[in-house]
Amino acid sequence: MLRSSLVLEVTSAVLGAAREFLEKEGFVELLPVILAPVTDPLRTTPDRAIVSAYGQDWYLTRSMIFHKQAAVRICPKIFSFSPNIRLEPAERGKTGRHLFEFVQLDLEVREATRDEVMDLGERLLLYVLSEIRRDFSRKLAEVGRELPEYSRPFPRIAWHEARKEFGPDFEEALSRQSKSPVWIVDFPIEEREFYDREDPERPGILRDMDLLYPEGFGEALSGGEREYLPERIRLRILRQGLDPAAYAGLIALAKEGLPPSAGFGIGVERLVRFILGLSHVGEVRLFPRIPGVPAVL
Ligand code: AMP
Ligand code: MG
Repeated sequence: MLRSSLVLEVTSAVLGAAREFLEKEGFVELLPVILAPVTDPLRTTPDRAIVSAYGQDWYLTRSMIFHKQAAVRICPKIFSFSPNIRLEPAERGKTGRHLFEFVQLDLEVREATRDEVMDLGERLLLYVLSEIRRDFSRKLAEVGRELPEYSRPFPRIAWHEARKEFGPDFEEALSRQSKSPVWIVDFPIEEREFYDREDPERPGILRDMDLLYPEGFGEALSGGEREYLPERIRLRILRQGLDPAAYAGLIALAKEGLPPSAGFGIGVERLVRFILGLSHVGEVRLFPRIPGVPAVL
């Protein structure tokens, strides 16, 4: 399991470049939350990691979504390098994209629209890629990797159109055939979690997005505008068959007043995997946590 130092150097440079970009944009970095009484529901990953202590259960963070919404009450632009624990099913260990411990660069902007955070996401990604190209092109060439230049805005396609054109595995097909990072927008409400905001003008359609890497590397980031009104949050929780009591803290916060916001999370290991053209995201980590694969250290 000996990693080349290039992977570690590139990971470190990616973190530095992203942090530098966001600080220039006026973002404040938050220390990550590791344990919380409530976390992202993530219905496609039902198993939860829980620590019982001090008479209550604490979830290991699956994403900082609710903490980000709370944080933008105080600072208008926040980000965190957030360690996430997601007990993905063992078969996802073979996708090349799934770890059960990973880090996402998770950010949120008060009063922002989806288009504004998409613009930010494009500029962030292109900045990181340009910094890596500048400092590592020779080393990348030595491992047979060349990072093409991409132009903005990245193409975008609506979820329904993508599905019609490419079938049920549209994400895979779109990522494989695309020459540029590509956006999928307007997910149907049943495809996502309750906190993605429903478009007030198009019931059943969310104001959200995913970005896919080209060359078949798959999903880079997910995000969107958020539900922030207490009654809307409650209705969306019920619509997904979840129990509003489990999200009492979030609803109470929304009653006090949550601002509208939008944001996204981009997986750090997947970004480094893409930059280096690695076959599995686990190759990025010195101590990878791959679903279904035992570890000794
Ligand atoms: P999500 O909001 O669930 O889409 O997560 C945000 C981002 O984190 C995704 O777009 C991926 O880049 C990354 N991510 C999510 N799950 C995993 C995983 N199991 N392993 C590695 N990266 C992940
Ligand atoms: Mg996603």
